[in-house]
Amino acid sequence: MATIFYSSSLSPSLLLLKNQNRVKPICLSTIKTTPNVQKEEIVIIGAGIAGLATSLSLHRLGVKSLVLEQADSLRTGGTSLTLFKNGWRVLDAMGVGDELRQQFLEIEGLVIKAEDGRELRSFKFKDESEGQEVRAVERRILLETLTNKLPLDTVRFSSKLEKIETTETRETLLQLTDGTELLAKIVIGCDGIRSPVAKWMGFSEPRYVGHCAFRGLAVYPGGQPFQPRVNYVYGRGLRAGYVPVTPTKVYWFICFNNPSPGPKITDASVLKNEAQKLVRNWPSEILDLIDKTPDDTISRTPLVDRWLWPTTSPSASLGSVVLVGDAWHPMTPNLGQGACCALEDAVILARKLAGTLESGPTSVENALKSYESERWSRVFPLTIRANFVGSLLQWANPLVCAMRNNVVIPKLVRLGPLLEHTNFECEPLK
Ligand SMILES: Cc1cc2nc3c(=O)[nH]c(=O)nc-3n(C[C@H](O)[C@H](O)[C@H](O)COP(=O)(O)OP(=O)(O)OC[C@H]3O[C@@H](n4cnc5c(N)ncnc54)[C@H](O)[C@@H]3O)c2cc1C
Repeated sequence: MATIFYSSSLSPSLLLLKNQNRVKPICLSTIKTTPNVQKEEIVIIGAGIAGLATSLSLHRLGVKSLVLEQADSLRTGGTSLTLFKNGWRVLDAMGVGDELRQQFLEIEGLVIKAEDGRELRSFKFKDESEGQEVRAVERRILLETLTNKLPLDTVRFSSKLEKIETTETRETLLQLTDGTELLAKIVIGCDGIRSPVAKWMGFSEPRYVGHCAFRGLAVYPGGQPFQPRVNYVYGRGLRAGYVPVTPTKVYWFICFNNPSPGPKITDASVLKNEAQKLVRNWPSEILDLIDKTPDDTISRTPLVDRWLWPTTSPSASLGSVVLVGDAWHPMTPNLGQGACCALEDAVILARKLAGTLESGPTSVENALKSYESERWSRVFPLTIRANFVGSLLQWANPLVCAMRNNVVIPKLVRLGPLLEHTNFECEPLK
């Protein structure tokens, strides 16, 4: 990752930024811009779900933005994301919900099994939570759909942010690795879990939570054989899951305890081998799913999060720079809410910003603070909850797992309260 040069000329002394457990001094420097610096109103860093959704929300409100993406194209590999009704409310507000619905199966319920295949419990979503809507959406198609609704040239690829500075005029100077300089009135950091913008703002690296996930998207050219249900299989310190995405594709994951994140592995045959070893005595459909996974959709990811403690965590905005999605609140995927929350952030931030752009930097900064206070109360508890759910599901103790499988899941679990966090209302963006 490129080094980000930390500097600011907001005040004549050292600018102190709060970091998780310490106060971090940031050296000042005088900013020298080249005559060719390009001026922009709003620059979004990152063309992932958060960046594209923020840009589209702004566009629907009549506000132009420029999205800078380090890669040379949209992320085409990868698997799918399960979106719950809160995600769909936002996609509807952005005007893309129905287009996506047509392409992805509606999931009716979930079934929980033990590692020997015994069914422990099943639920129907609509019985448990009114208006619930669950679909697994291919990430590639979600990104393409959002991009296609943006004016041409909104997304600029091969544009990697290298350096960020604040100017005396309360604007932000962005320098890219190719030497391009942009001066932006507002910068929205949507640059994911290792966000350089968040780092510049004083956020710590996300923390590894002790388990990793294999993910893949299996393809059945002749049609996949599964009912439209999320399937979970719970073992000891190990769990797997799969969900049909389309009539021919099925998303699967395997989550396993590991003391360290381990090395980055990109060789698909090594990944498949490792994934298969973990579940070799489990229900055979999981092995079959791994077999039927094209090389470019299998991956292994160490799971991380960052808790936004109220007094010690930096603010989501610094001047006219603000964070959205994983850049601000990386959370574990145990509730399937990371992307859903990024979508929620996008629509709320766009609404707050659109009304204040003409009123000068102080109004903009107030709008960003208001976004933070509204969203913090949503994302902080969810991050913690997702972490706890993951820890409970990754239990390895045989007695505890027996209790979970024979008492807690069959007799005590109620899905309705567990899905309460998917309640989120959102008016159309016009
Ligand atoms: C195993 C797993 C399963 C998941 N399942 C679900 C699920 O079922 N449902 C759900 O809602 N969420 C799920 N999530 C979470 C979801 O994937 C994330 O919350 C979501 O992708 C966040 O989107 P983002 O746009 O904030 O970040 P990203 O998708 O990471 O996008 C960041 C973008 O910024 C770009 N970028 C980074 N640095 C720079 C730079 N210096 N200059 C320019 N561009 C830059 C990157 O190239 C990238 O395109 C899951 C996550 C994991 C790990």
